[in-house]
Amino acid sequence: MNLQIIKYPDARLKQVSVPVESFDTELHRFIAELEKIMRAGPGGVGIAAPQVGYFQRIVIVDISGMRKLPADSSNNGCMILINPEIIEWNGMAMGREGCMSVPDFTGNVIRAEEIAFTAFDTQGTQHELNSAGYEARAVQHEVDHLDGLLFLDRLVSRRTDLFKRKVYKQKIISSLPRPGES
Ligand SMILES: [Zn+2]
Repeated sequence: MNLQIIKYPDARLKQVSVPVESFDTELHRFIAELEKIMRAGPGGVGIAAPQVGYFQRIVIVDISGMRKLPADSSNNGCMILINPEIIEWNGMAMGREGCMSVPDFTGNVIRAEEIAFTAFDTQGTQHELNSAGYEARAVQHEVDHLDGLLFLDRLVSRRTDLFKRKVYKQKIISSLPRPGES
């Protein structure tokens, strides 16, 4: 598989993905590739299948590798969520988001602070999960991709809530000694 991240404004990012029906080897192989791409990306805490042109309802969220995990965030580790459905939303908070499909910008987006959701695992068993804070934000962002929505679609105002990234080359930057370090 040679999967590549589809970037805004590619119209395919607006496509609604269909539910997964077979929990077979092909699915497992695809998920392994999808996870590789997520981990290769700078700040990759989540990815959705349609971002690589595979329009099925699959997302991966894993914030456990973040250097500074926000204190109010839950941490369920690596979550492979198939056919996820958010069933409860509590509270609202504004927070900064980025996206591998929108490499040049970040944006302030209002999301629920806490969510409950159901999803199937790779074997086809359904689970119910809860998530809060940054992790909940990541889940909501990725589930949006399955419905053809980007964080850009959720900005209250492009004028005040959209920010041009100065640097999105974390991988390169982080391999260089930082000031005061060498
Ligand atoms: Zn995204």
